[in-house]
Amino acid sequence: MNMDPRKFPNKEFSFFCEFQVAFELQERGWQVYQPLIDRYIDLIAVKNGNYRTIQVKSSRIENTDNGYESYGLTMKPKDLFHDVRHFFIWVFLDTNSIFHYFILNVKDFIDIRYYKLPPNNRRKYPSLLMRDEWRWGTDRLHPHRFIKIEDNKKIDDWRVEGVKINEYKDKWEKFDSVINEESYNKYCFEATEICEFWRKADKEVINIWKKNNEKAEKILKNYPDIYEKAKKLLKEVAEEDEGIIDAHLIRLTQEDANRIFEETTENWEVFLPLQSTDHVLLFKPICSKCEKYWNTSLKECFYCKTKYFRVRVCENKNCGKLYAENVKPRQRCDCGGNIVKKCINCGAIEKDRKRVFVPITFCWYCGNRQNKFEFKKIYLKR
Ligand SMILES: [Zn+2]
Ligand SMILES: [Zn+2]
Ligand SMILES: [Zn+2]
Repeated sequence: MNMDPRKFPNKEFSFFCEFQVAFELQERGWQVYQPLIDRYIDLIAVKNGNYRTIQVKSSRIENTDNGYESYGLTMKPKDLFHDVRHFFIWVFLDTNSIFHYFILNVKDFIDIRYYKLPPNNRRKYPSLLMRDEWRWGTDRLHPHRFIKIEDNKKIDDWRVEGVKINEYKDKWEKFDSVINEESYNKYCFEATEICEFWRKADKEVINIWKKNNEKAEKILKNYPDIYEKAKKLLKEVAEEDEGIIDAHLIRLTQEDANRIFEETTENWEVFLPLQSTDHVLLFKPICSKCEKYWNTSLKECFYCKTKYFRVRVCENKNCGKLYAENVKPRQRCDCGGNIVKKCINCGAIEKDRKRVFVPITFCWYCGNRQNKFEFKKIYLKR
């Protein structure tokens, strides 16, 4: 066979890797689903009523100059779901067209970026997920493969920033193991929050969240027209870097199409089974407490956790006038000041390399600090 995935265009390569993962899972008895519209979950696997969500991150060799193979991938803050059924699969294709799979749950990823990190005096924070690069979504990881010879045998030594990752290689059985923890939320906060106070999710923390947001909303209400505009903007799903749509042409009757697409108004995302055609699977992230939709495109201030209401603020401290986020890029305030992306509660300004607004870590509606996934099947009438 002459097929060489190393030569595929980027998008095709990453899609091909998702298929490789799907086939690996099918072989192990999992029913695999792909999204109708590609947002962030690449695959859902189901076996005996157990659900697993998967993000596949793939890479070909980027560099071999230094005596080891180097790969590259990017993980983002919104990938840090709290649900213990969430997995990342890193797929690396080597020069011999061999695939290498690393199976990580959210806690494993946090281990690699924080708990297992060897100490280093030059590091400003103990966790790599406390850095601005992480919050910017430009935190590029470079897994390395060192090939050692021991007793005339080749031994692979895989590392990311000094952390050994061999133990995650080909650990497909991880999908079958029972997960005893309720949520990974506390690890996410410990690894990402710079301020110790925000590493908790207790009543006190939620009260401060409420206070900050009440204060911000009071300011907003002084600008009723801007507030109305902002509310409209918040209803639009802000997907900046996405928008690749995998249009699967499935044979649906008009009636089934109507039934399925109707569900999307309630924020359900549609997943199609690779093998069977008698049903579709619906998925959505929700708050574990109030069970409302947990929309990862909604943002909050990293510093004070106030919601980002999609308004901008005049930089002039004596003015502070609000504008809707979609104000013209070069427009200036009536007072002549710059209109900037600024937290209306704590005043942190997003500019240069400082990221202020990150995906929500508090439920937008109730302030609870834990999300989870919900699934439901819809059977098609034939
Ligand atoms: Zn909630
Ligand atoms: Zn002004
Ligand atoms: Zn703030």
